[in-house]
Amino acid sequence: MEQTYVMIKPDGVARGLMGEVLGRIEKKGLKIVGMKFAVMEEAKAKEHYAEHAERPFFAGLVEFITSAPSLSLIVEGNDSIKIMRAINGATKPAEAAPGTIRGDFAVDTGRNLVHASDSPEAAAREIKIHFGDCAPLTYKRCDDDCLYE
Ligand code: UDP
Repeated sequence: MEQTYVMIKPDGVARGLMGEVLGRIEKKGLKIVGMKFAVMEEAKAKEHYAEHAERPFFAGLVEFITSAPSLSLIVEGNDSIKIMRAINGATKPAEAAPGTIRGDFAVDTGRNLVHASDSPEAAAREIKIHFGDCAPLTYKRCDDDCLYE
């Protein structure tokens, strides 16, 4: 089963949206198999966003991401990488469709509430950065048998 890394960023935590985001993930039928609630270390934030290191928003992004608690998740399910990107919506809230998290709750690209890996390679890399050797959990949801053909 495919796994992806999801983060509820400090703005999502501060705005009391953890339950809203977790509820959307769970109701979709994806399974949360890892969870870590912490203030992200600067080194991890820099590694996570390394592809943006030369962009003008990088320093501010790292400062924001490490400024307060964020919730890191490992989310599992069929096509979980694509599905989580769809649940989150476009990076720019103005382009995010209503019904997505960013479309429903955000107005600024720098405060767009959530992150989700954009490829299998990114998912593996990001899960490793944030969860290290801490293995995802294995458990049965009572609707597992209804969710899959
Ligand atoms: N970001 C920003 N300003 C920009 C572009 C991106 O602050 O002009 C931040 C924003 O928080 C975004 C993150 O950098 O979510 C990573 O950007 P990416 O293009 O990878 O978008 P995502 O994968 O988060 O949709």
